[in-house]
Amino acid sequence: MALWGIEQPRGKRALVAGMARSGIAAARLLLKHGARPVLSDLKARGELKGLEEFDGVDGVEWALGEDADRFIDGLDLIVISPGMPIGAKWIKEAKAKGIPVISELELGAAFADGPQAAITGTNGKTTTTALLGEMLRNAGKTAHVVGNIGNSISAAAAEGRAGDIYVVEVSSFQLEGTVDFHPRAGALLNITPDHLNRHGDMETYIGLKRHMFEKMGAGDTAVVNGDDPVAVKALEGLPTRMMRFSRRGEVEVGAFVRGGEVILRSEGGERAVCEAGEVRIPGGHNLENAMAAACVASVMGVPAPVVRHTLRTFAGVEHRIETVRVYEGVTWINDSKGTNVDSTLAAIAAMGKPTVIILGGYDKHVEFEGLAKAVKGSEWVKEAVLIGDTAGQIKEALEKEGFENMTEAGYDFGKAIEEARRLAGSGWNVLFSPACASFDMFHDYEHRGHEFRRLAEALR
Ligand code: ADP
Repeated sequence: MALWGIEQPRGKRALVAGMARSGIAAARLLLKHGARPVLSDLKARGELKGLEEFDGVDGVEWALGEDADRFIDGLDLIVISPGMPIGAKWIKEAKAKGIPVISELELGAAFADGPQAAITGTNGKTTTTALLGEMLRNAGKTAHVVGNIGNSISAAAAEGRAGDIYVVEVSSFQLEGTVDFHPRAGALLNITPDHLNRHGDMETYIGLKRHMFEKMGAGDTAVVNGDDPVAVKALEGLPTRMMRFSRRGEVEVGAFVRGGEVILRSEGGERAVCEAGEVRIPGGHNLENAMAAACVASVMGVPAPVVRHTLRTFAGVEHRIETVRVYEGVTWINDSKGTNVDSTLAAIAAMGKPTVIILGGYDKHVEFEGLAKAVKGSEWVKEAVLIGDTAGQIKEALEKEGFENMTEAGYDFGKAIEEARRLAGSGWNVLFSPACASFDMFHDYEHRGHEFRRLAEALR
């Protein structure tokens, strides 16, 4: 196979930039296919983990603890790990010399010997990817769930067997380095402004999302949120088969809700999947994720009854509107992944019972006016407990909207839980969806979510 102008990888010298888990997997995959990896990272060997497998291996070159410039001459390929900025000076120089520069995703996808389905968008990627993986597994298929969500596609491609299915969560970061990536089915969930600090402007961001679909052909299927005009526009004019999903109206081909029922419609006809109310993951946004996954699953050959069963049983992904305990009639919900205002708005909209919301965290210098309006306007949010750096700002925003039921807990998370418990009556929710990042009090959002779970489980 010819890839990126390279007839075959055997004997080729390929630099891998970034030696964290994905970079290590990429280097391993290159070795497996007979290439000679150059292991590069600004960090020194002592600061990196998991490199022992390359010690003394023939064909491996080490380029740690320094910039990669010195290693560019004579390279056949450069593979960039996710999270590494592709704009570095040495990368530009290498490109100018005609050396192909690709992402780890591109490498892994090229060697993954089986059909691929890819999910992108601003919000809902992890949930939809995990749900789709579950549908495929419930249909008895071997599905590798990879990408942003955890395991890298390079790692899976090195272990996978011919015909396995790859479900890939794709962030816009990784799309910066894709060239020939062409999944059999790809879904664009939504596009709202995010990560603009890295991608520059909205135009560039939209262009990147479209880029995932550009190498797909007439036999492939693009799935798009029909209720999101920006997303629809981004995919206009593709040669692929198009499927849409919509909460608001019927679509020609795709998924929609009619009379409370989720309908999947193809060129050949339609069938009812299940009641919208039976979808176990809560909220309108999750109904969108569910319909997106159902569309892609149909392309990948999952029978409708399996789609139905999975929608009824899939409980969601940790830290995303995740019920961690029901105690004394109060449902404790961990939405620690609600790290921005938009995702907390989705969580608030998903509540169907009186709710105490715990808000606040690390200060990313965003406005809380929209959040305050949603809290005040919600039928269900009755009380707010405020924590962390942004507590003061959120308090001010809530006061402006005339919402007064607030309790402050400072930097004491245990106190926040105690206050929430005191405020919540039987039949209520306690929703922890902070609308902020976690770094003021925790290592990351996962640490924060685990603390919430631990404290909720410790209530006696
Ligand atoms: P991503 O992987 O794109 O960050 P996740 O599935 O991890 O998305 O969800 C992150 C947060 O975004 C969740 O806590 C949820 O509140 C919100 N969310 C999930 N799906 C959607 C959607 N389709 N539209 C808007 N918000 C969503």
